[in-house]
Amino acid sequence: MTRELPPGDYCPRCRARGWPDDFDSPPRRAFLTSGHFTEDNWNCASMDILRSIFHEPREWALWPAVVTTDSEQSCGLVALPHSEDEGDRFILIYWYKNRGKTDNAMVWMPERVVHQVEPLLLKHVDEIARLT
Ligand SMILES: [Zn+2]
Repeated sequence: MTRELPPGDYCPRCRARGWPDDFDSPPRRAFLTSGHFTEDNWNCASMDILRSIFHEPREWALWPAVVTTDSEQSCGLVALPHSEDEGDRFILIYWYKNRGKTDNAMVWMPERVVHQVEPLLLKHVDEIARLT
């Protein structure tokens, strides 16, 4: 069940999902209107697409991996589809326990010699969403 979202700035997926009853507070978008990731997020439905890859194991063609430190910080790694222009690309996201905030996110392009890391953009989530 969901409630109506209070007035605010939400991503299209959060608007479509609403405010789930099991959330104490409404979601905060993980991607600014520009499409860039922001660390001031909470349970954003767009970020949940990525987080669910690591929290809800199932058949994934892209072989995601998650590593957790002894301080319960986790880093998830998942491949994006190969890009003719950019080569192989991997999404890296970083979070604490199973909380709703994602602390950091980026795209690693290991075939590049310089500028190997780029900001995670909403368009990258859309690429993953098309595969799920
Ligand atoms: Zn959102």
